Amino acid sequence: MSDNMKYDVIIVGAGVFGMATAFYLKQTDRALNVMVIDREGGAGEGNTCKSAAGIRNTFSSPENVILTNTSINKFEDIEKKGFGLNIKMCGYLWLMTDDKFKKSQDAIYAMKENGVDFSVLFAEELRAIPGLNIDNYSSDECQMMGLSRIKSGLLGKKCGSIDPGAIVSYYENEFKKLGGITKFNTKVESLILEPEEKLDIPGEPLVWQEPKIAGVRTANGEIYAKTTIIAAGVWAKELLDPIGLDAHIKPKKRQLFQVKGSSLEPLIKNCPGFNDLNMLPFTIIQKAGIYVKAEPREECIYVGCADNIGRAFNFDCEPERDYYENSILPVLVEVFPQFKNARLESMIAGSYAYNTIDKNPYIFKPMRDLVIVSGDSGSGIMKCDAVGRIATALYWGEEYAILYPNVPFKVSKLGVETRDVTFERFVI
Ligand SMILES: Cc1cc2nc3c(=O)[nH]c(=O)nc-3n(C[C@H](O)[C@H](O)[C@H](O)COP(=O)(O)OP(=O)(O)OC[C@H]3O[C@@H](n4cnc5c(N)ncnc54)[C@H](O)[C@@H]3O)c2cc1C
Repeated sequence: MSDNMKYDVIIVGAGVFGMATAFYLKQTDRALNVMVIDREGGAGEGNTCKSAAGIRNTFSSPENVILTNTSINKFEDIEKKGFGLNIKMCGYLWLMTDDKFKKSQDAIYAMKENGVDFSVLFAEELRAIPGLNIDNYSSDECQMMGLSRIKSGLLGKKCGSIDPGAIVSYYENEFKKLGGITKFNTKVESLILEPEEKLDIPGEPLVWQEPKIAGVRTANGEIYAKTTIIAAGVWAKELLDPIGLDAHIKPKKRQLFQVKGSSLEPLIKNCPGFNDLNMLPFTIIQKAGIYVKAEPREECIYVGCADNIGRAFNFDCEPERDYYENSILPVLVEVFPQFKNARLESMIAGSYAYNTIDKNPYIFKPMRDLVIVSGDSGSGIMKCDAVGRIATALYWGEEYAILYPNVPFKVSKLGVETRDVTFERFVI
């Protein structure tokens, strides 16, 4: 098919959301002409490959539990069938002070209600973690930073990590096997907004004309489609704001710091008792949203932090060494003293497409020929299979999407006017 012909569907964005949607669309109807466009040179080169790629079903919102449970089930099935995703079910561990534990009671209760598999560990059990400082927080520095002793840990079992590049490649390969087309190195500059019936009057569509999205404009010309799907992650705003539609997200900078050193080795490969892999679970420390993720393949630990107040909403993607050294490290070394002797090897920065209201994705159709798939809120990798299926069901006008392996999910729940989701309290 050449670009001056009309596609059935153009998807802007070849991240996990766009590629999963592309695959499920083709899977439901192989005859559909679907093209995925991305300005980068390959799939997943936006925020997908900058992700810590933690996967977990430990959420307080029942919708998030369903989206993640079903996606994780699918990931495990993909790997079982021989497509390597580097899944490591190492668990997710929240270290908690007494106060934090008390404040999390409602969220923990909600998880129990939602059937999430987790256990609460006492401080004694956490002593098995090499070097972890459980009770020694009496120094002036600790007092100043508001650190206090760890009383318990919440360990999520159906949790771990995945290779984000591998999962996006899986969807891309399957999509292409079904005849799907990708077009990389092509920036979509704007959406083509036209009247349903063109009269060639300047300023069309005029208010009395029925508007439609006829496709996209790129530097190399216009590409027409019956339906356009915006899966452009945090950049969805750039395409929707100019035509007066709201993506309902804000970009929030998030960084990952790769740290190496022999002092970290016990955490990476000799941390028994929490999983079969002998490694530290994906661990969220008790203060300031700092998390550590061991990566045995690269013999390193990734450190991230979910800072909120003081961190502007913008598209800045420059990693900040100072942020690691002055904000994160002083806290981290009190909890894991072995980080004192480790070196910062590399760092990256990307953004969450943050739904500031309920931290769940938005999948909606503001016009007959326009679908928007957005609002990952920092957990898009772990939900991508469900999101791709829900976007596909919305495209076909289905009331329910069937999530893997056979779980119905009401499509309108993730819409805008019809939204019916529960506020999420376990966000990182
Ligand atoms: C530091 C960090 C840590 C994270 N950790 C986790 C985690 O542990 N677990 C988890 O599940 N999620 C995590 N995430 C979030 C995860 O990365 C996202 O949820 C996921 O990548 C969203 O996928 P997407 O397809 O919506 O966006 P993206 O992968 O960003 O894809 C959007 C694509 O659209 C393209 N695009 C945008 N505008 C245009 C245009 N005008 N023309 C052409 N192409 C365009 C971009 O090039 C990009 O490839 C993390 C994110 C960051 C930054």
